Amino acid sequence: MEEDYVFKIVVIGDSAVGKTQLLGRFTRDEFFLDSKSTIGIEFQTRTVDIARRRVKAQIWDTAGQERYRAVTSAYYRGALGAMLVYDVTRRHTFEHAARWVDELRAHADKSIVVMLIGNKADLAAGRAVAADEAAAFAEEQGLFFSEASALSGENVERAFLRLLEEIHANVS
Ligand code: GDP
Repeated sequence: MEEDYVFKIVVIGDSAVGKTQLLGRFTRDEFFLDSKSTIGIEFQTRTVDIARRRVKAQIWDTAGQERYRAVTSAYYRGALGAMLVYDVTRRHTFEHAARWVDELRAHADKSIVVMLIGNKADLAAGRAVAADEAAAFAEEQGLFFSEASALSGENVERAFLRLLEEIHANVS
């Protein structure tokens, strides 16, 4: 067999926070300034080594469903991990994170591993959410937390690998 595990991961969060770009950065090391050429593509994969095992990350994009509040329970089915993304320059996208956590609690498996991502950390001048505040929220909710930038690539690899390691620790 090619891989030892396949881990389904869902990427969630408000519209335009950078979900598609984070996924593209991790799976293909790409970033497109003009996004949304990916509507219709359901997931992308990348295989990595975690603790000497071949782990295929199967990462699902909402493909814009969140705009219509139509992210369905099928999207969450079988997911072992979630990247909950907000935009550090748009405060309401962080304030909505609590709603996304509720959505996960309602539709996803109880043991799902969740990483809160403050994306667009490259836009330092426009920052509207302090890292400390997000870290405190994450701790209170039992989420892992990292800021990242899909544009520069900073912390993207590290955050996805951390999520995969935590999932691996749970299943092995
Ligand atoms: P989605 O709707 O959450 O999937 O968001 P997209 O991935 O389509 O990104 C929305 C917009 O934010 C696009 O114009 C991207 O180019 C931009 N964007 C995404 N990630 C970053 C980032 O890390 N830094 C900056 N400066 N812009 C970003």
